Amino acid sequence: PALLQRPNLALWVNNEKQIYMKEEAFPTCPPDSCVVHVKATGICGSEIHFWKTGGIGDVRVTHPIILGHESAGQIIEVGANVTSFSVGDRVSIEPGVACWECGMCVRGRYNLCPDVKFSGTPPTDGTMRRFVAHPARFLHRLGDDVSYEVGALIEPLSVGYNAVRRAAPYLGQPVVVAGAGPIGLAVALSARAAGANPIVITDLEAHRLEQAKEMGFKNTVLIDMAWDRNEVATKLRAAAGCLPQIVFECTGSEASINAACYAVEDGGTLLQVGCGKPEISLPFMSLGFREVNVVTSFRYQQTWPVVLRLAQSGVFGDVTQLITHKLPLEKAVEALEISADRTSRSIKVQIVDE
Ligand code: NAD
Ligand code: ZN
Repeated sequence: PALLQRPNLALWVNNEKQIYMKEEAFPTCPPDSCVVHVKATGICGSEIHFWKTGGIGDVRVTHPIILGHESAGQIIEVGANVTSFSVGDRVSIEPGVACWECGMCVRGRYNLCPDVKFSGTPPTDGTMRRFVAHPARFLHRLGDDVSYEVGALIEPLSVGYNAVRRAAPYLGQPVVVAGAGPIGLAVALSARAAGANPIVITDLEAHRLEQAKEMGFKNTVLIDMAWDRNEVATKLRAAAGCLPQIVFECTGSEASINAACYAVEDGGTLLQVGCGKPEISLPFMSLGFREVNVVTSFRYQQTWPVVLRLAQSGVFGDVTQLITHKLPLEKAVEALEISADRTSRSIKVQIVDE
């Protein structure tokens, strides 16, 4: 049937750890928003957490919500106040809708807005549905030659870009990226574009390192959980052939964070991207006596325009290599199951709609 006659299918999660498809009404379009036909959506580890464990930290699934926050699509309705977009425009959705009024927003650090409404994170409904209304300020036009699949990768690529911008590696600066999931690979792409070299990538799973190699990151270390943190650090330094000055930690595991503390050169930077237990044990005084900078990175701010440019211009190489599975919206439940199944060897699973 014609597009607007098609049901607004959505993927829901409830507080009983169930995911299911349910039809939504066609969204009403607020004056500052556009209605987007969502054409591609990536699945992120957080969706699996909301489903399998009922939440992440203090953010709990207390009532049914629609998941999804890595999306791109086509505008099918434009709000009364919106002048920057027209029907038919192709856009990538920036999912964190900040208030634009608080101190953090005014200072440009809008990823830290305490009132942010983040798609697919309780209590805000997400983008895993056919039609969604989203504020125009948080929509970004796709170049004609940028696919919706790439448009939906701008979100994880932005996580990587934000982390790399905060560490600001320079040409020839040796770095380690711990963890070769979608986020570690996104960090590696931005670090490489910034000139970091060598780039050593670690993981526990060989297939993830194979993927890293296919994307041009040949210097990998398969971590053995039997190694203690000093052994891991020694292997990382050996693989780099010099002392890593930045370790981008993209696993969130206590073991990997500890290894990162010992791998990094004195005066270097531990850039923490991975999320894990709320409290962990660190070699605090070793960091102190060695003046190691401990820097964190949370989501992103002001990344879409630049990351879209970098993706479009080919600086990142072929980012679609991150996408290992694509399923139609009607099979969104199956798509989440594949993403949650470690034996599927997936990196990025996307839900698509024509
Ligand atoms: P992922 O689970 O797909 O990838 C993590 C990888 O780390 C896996 O391949 C795993 O095998 C590997 N790993 C686990 N323990 C390891 C160890 N000790 N040594 C080496 N490798 C190890 O997750 P992802 O989607 O790539 O996300 C990575 C992390 O980034 C997660 O913790 C996620 O919550 C976090 N994250 C942070 C932000 C942010 O804004 N800071 C945004 C998105 C995701
Ligand atoms: Zn704000």
